[in-house]
Parts: sequence; C-alpha cells; structure tokens
Amino acid sequence: MRTIKVQTDRPYDILIERGIINRCGELIKSVSKAQKVCIVTDSNVEKLYSEKVISSIKASGFETELFVFEAGEENKRLSTIADMYSCFADFHMSRKDLVVALGGGVTGDMAGFAAASYMRGIEFVQIPTSLLAQVDSSVGGKTGVDIQQGKNLVGAFWQPNMVIVDPDTLSTLPDYYINDGMAEVIKYGCIKDEKLFETLENENALSIIEDIIEICVSIKRDVVNADEREKGERMLLNFGHTLGHSLEKIYNYKGLSHGQAVAIGMCMITKASEKAGITKAGTTDRIVALCKKYGLPVSDKADFREIAQVCSSDKKTAGGSVNLVLLEKIGTSFTKPTPLNGLEKFITV
Ligand code: MG
Repeated sequence: MRTIKVQTDRPYDILIERGIINRCGELIKSVSKAQKVCIVTDSNVEKLYSEKVISSIKASGFETELFVFEAGEENKRLSTIADMYSCFADFHMSRKDLVVALGGGVTGDMAGFAAASYMRGIEFVQIPTSLLAQVDSSVGGKTGVDIQQGKNLVGAFWQPNMVIVDPDTLSTLPDYYINDGMAEVIKYGCIKDEKLFETLENENALSIIEDIIEICVSIKRDVVNADEREKGERMLLNFGHTLGHSLEKIYNYKGLSHGQAVAIGMCMITKASEKAGITKAGTTDRIVALCKKYGLPVSDKADFREIAQVCSSDKKTAGGSVNLVLLEKIGTSFTKPTPLNGLEKFITV
C-alpha cells in the first residue's frame, strides 16, 4: 500500500492500493470512533460499488445508511444537500458520526460540504472512484456546490479523515472520463514535474496508474501545504484553467468536459506565452502531442475576444487583472498578473 501523509490542522493519510475498497471498513475504523456511517454516492457508482463498500463497513461494526442522488453535475446543488441533511437527521447521526463520499468529484464536493456543515461539522472519508477525483478533487479540502449564479460559489474548506484510492475502480470508467482526468495529470507534469511529463510521453499512463496517482497526489499535497506559508503557490494548479473555465462557460458546461477544457486552455496559453518569448520554444508542441495521445482536444473554434470577455467576468478576476499561470519550460511554472484589457491581445496568436 502507498501512503501519502497530508499535514493540515488535522493530519490525514491518502492510501493507494488496488482492491483497497474491499477493506474500507477496517480502514475507516482505524481513524474514527463513529457508530453510524452514511455513504453518499450517485446513481451510477451505486450500482458498481455500494454493495462492496456497505458490506465492508458493516463488517467493521458500523451501522450504515445509503444516500443516492441522480448522477450529473446539474444535481450539484443546494436541494441535494438539503436532502442529504434530512437523510443524516432521519438516521439520527450525531456529531461523532461519519460520512463517506463514494464517487467522483461531484460526490466528493457535495458529501464533503454536507459533512462540513451538518451539526457544524462531522467527520468524512473520501473514496474517489474517478481519475479526476483520485488525482485532484479529493486532495486539498475544497468542498462545495453550484448555485444558479456560478459553479462552486458556496462551500467550505473541510479536510477528510482519510482518502482511500482504489485504482481498480478506474477499470469501470468510460474512456471519456479517463481522458478527463488525464488533463489534470498532464497539468501536474507541466507545472511541477518534467520527469512525470516525460513518463507520460514515453509510457502508457494507465499501465502504471498507481505510480501516476501517487506522483500527482504528492504534487498537489506539496502545493497545498506550501500555500499556507507562501501565498500564490496554489494558483499554479490553475494552469490551463483560466481559459479552460471560460470555454466551459461559453459551452454552458455541456459541450466540453472539465478536462477537455483544461487541455485546450493549457495549449492555448502556452502557445501565447511561447510566442511572447516567455516559454521555451517547442513547449507547446510537446503539450499538444501529449494531449492528443490521451484523447484530449488541443484547440477550439471559440474566438479569442469572447474567451477574454468571459474571463473578465469571472469571480477570480479581481481588480482588473488576472493571474495567468505560465510555463518557463515543462516542469517550471509561475504566475503573471496580466491586465484584463491586455488578455485578448496576449492570447491572440
Ligand atoms: Mg481542475
């Protein structure tokens, strides 16, 4: 088993092992004194893993309840959270009890937020089942929901007691979702780890996915930890995301997956910074080739003016400028405050 320790106010471990989901009960027992455990999952993941998880948790002596919501980002909303609270209350959960988030990013974000707020905060454990959740959203403590005015506008920082990563769950994931997660994996290589990037170029990531997950989670852990001292480090995780978010918005979160949008964003911004002489020549070609290798798009027909305009209306672009994350070369990144009125010109290449 691979163990990655995360040092937050309340330290916790991220455990990675094939088949580990079958003994999640004993692992949860090792970090919690709860009597009751509510497993939160969506309608897709329920069919695949809820039985295994429930039987393991029951076998460790917990009482269990299952909360299932209809799969899909459109259900990442407050009414689903309200239903969760009712489920917890009807199950008579106390402040000592625990929530398990079983599923992808949407499930982790919502179950985490419900755990953060029910009775002013109860324990929770993440069992991420998508690549995106395993390498990204289950680490860092961000939880939340979407509201009509925007994505993730309501939420809380809330750390899990443990994250249990079973790479075997990826075998049931359609290619589309594997590719979605691979965009974030490529991002980690771009911003922090040239060796990871080269590994992705030279090998089939899926055949060594445990190594890949371990490396990505460690990078995210380090970046998140560093941000406590050094404000801004965490922003590096937004590489490809500023333009990516604009594209997601332009397509109303339907035409492109998050990973697809990030892939296009990484290619687009690097093309611009390479042209401006900021990024080492040839970097864009390598990112483009790698995204293509993992089935990701590398450009889009949306025009630069619209992308820049949508970016300007984003919640994160305060004070008339945006912090662009740029590469010096593969593996080395930095942030560059850029005036919003210069953004369109910068990305137009
Ligand atoms: Mg992301």
